[in-house]
Amino acid sequence: MATTALMATRPGQGGRRRPKTYGGNRRCHSDMCDTRLSRYNNSEFCFRHAPVKYPRLRGVFTEEYEASRA
Ligand SMILES: [Zn+2]
Repeated sequence: MATTALMATRPGQGGRRRPKTYGGNRRCHSDMCDTRLSRYNNSEFCFRHAPVKYPRLRGVFTEEYEASRA
């Protein structure tokens, strides 16, 4: 018996498929920053002010990460 179904759609969304956008007139939440966010960017900040995320490749540091520490 399958207890966990793959939920491709959420209840209430009607199963309609639309390109996922987040509004075309949003700006970075950072003060002093007037960068307009892409419709397809679900962050509240522009790429400069987004919280830093380090890519994790199965526990191996990327070259980029190593370079940033040097
Ligand atoms: Zn910004």
